Amino acid sequence: MKDVIVIGAGPSGSYAAYRLSKMGLDVLLLEEHKEVGKPVECTGLVSKRVLDFVKTRSIAGKVYGANIYFPNGKSIHVEKNDETIVLYRDSFDKDVAAMAIGAGADIRINARAISVKENNDSVTVKYRDSGQLKEDNAKVVIGADGINSVVRRDLYRIRQEKVVSTLQYDMAGKIEDERSVNVYLGSKYTHGFFGWAVPGGEIIRVGTGSYRASAYPYMKALSKRFGTNRVLGITGAGIPIKIAKSLFTKRSVLIGDAGGIVKPLSGGGIYTGIFSANLASERVANAIENEDYSQLRHYDKDIRGSIGVELKKDGFIQSIYSKIGDRSFDRIYGLISSEKIIDTINRSGDIDYPSKVIFKVLIRNPALLYSMWK
Ligand SMILES: Cc1cc2nc3c(=O)[nH]c(=O)nc-3n(C[C@H](O)[C@H](O)[C@H](O)COP(=O)(O)OP(=O)(O)OC[C@H]3O[C@@H](n4cnc5c(N)ncnc54)[C@H](O)[C@@H]3O)c2cc1C
Repeated sequence: MKDVIVIGAGPSGSYAAYRLSKMGLDVLLLEEHKEVGKPVECTGLVSKRVLDFVKTRSIAGKVYGANIYFPNGKSIHVEKNDETIVLYRDSFDKDVAAMAIGAGADIRINARAISVKENNDSVTVKYRDSGQLKEDNAKVVIGADGINSVVRRDLYRIRQEKVVSTLQYDMAGKIEDERSVNVYLGSKYTHGFFGWAVPGGEIIRVGTGSYRASAYPYMKALSKRFGTNRVLGITGAGIPIKIAKSLFTKRSVLIGDAGGIVKPLSGGGIYTGIFSANLASERVANAIENEDYSQLRHYDKDIRGSIGVELKKDGFIQSIYSKIGDRSFDRIYGLISSEKIIDTINRSGDIDYPSKVIFKVLIRNPALLYSMWK
């Protein structure tokens, strides 16, 4: 019997496999695709905090600020002292998986988990390993299998409550301001989320998210801003933006996208996923060492008491944000384009903890609240 089976070799699963193997546990890591990191369904924008966990060289570039476009066509520029990293997401995923292998994890690619069952003293995972049906037992299973998690389906029986649909085109071209990302607000380019353009050398990653509607018409409109016949690749996937009601069962935990541990305002889940993998690994290792699996419940508390506090605040803000109309956005532009407010944003902006700056701006300018509701 394995100590742990981790399902999914995305950043969350591979990081958990790395941590647990490093602690001396016998870990099996299953990945359904034939290649770790593929297909890429991500823009790859992360804070430097991610580099505290993974020493990666898979960096496509760095950005320092954002140009935020409002429906009226006007924009504001915000800038940070600190850089934000643009990853080559496929090779980043390989870096994390390589760390896991280096620490002793047994990885199987082209191995798709098809069912998970909890027994009294173990958990059984059935999977297709290069087409061959196999079954393995473990003391604990970690669901790191993304938005359509088999672990969540079989052991938690809960569906993802809030999902943002996305589409992203890799487009040939350069962005005017190579040091910043572009963000597009308003009903031309998104339904309840935002559009983006991120510089990556000769390529721009142009995408949009859409809440409760298809992203397609918005992506069509947004891509026109960057010219026709320039699309090099199309990706898109759902982003779960609400944390699952429970992140543990008798013999399992959910991490990363599988548990909806994603920033609701931006859809960013690499940092939060790795963060959750780190906390889960500690609790899983303790549970196995002490043969006390009730300890897995502490992981749920750890998450809700740390990053979960921010995710909850952001979720609340997102539920208001998703209803703001174009006229309100333009009024908001009028209110926040002053030097003072932009200075506040520059000083307090943090892509992992956005509620801090939002509340600060609201305190400085309470009329904004009125503009949102109007
Ligand atoms: C268009 C788009 C842009 C994004 N941009 C950003 C961004 O700029 N910054 C950011 O931080 N986040 C971004 N995200 C979110 C980010 O991609 C995810 O939050 C992140 O990948 C979560 O990592 P994970 O390891 O939890 O899950 P995933 O990366 O989804 O990994 C899950 C893994 O499990 C595997 N798997 C699934 N089912 C099975 C199974 N049954 N058996 C075996 N293996 C299985 C999958 O193949 C996959 O490798 C973006 C998402 C999208 C869709």
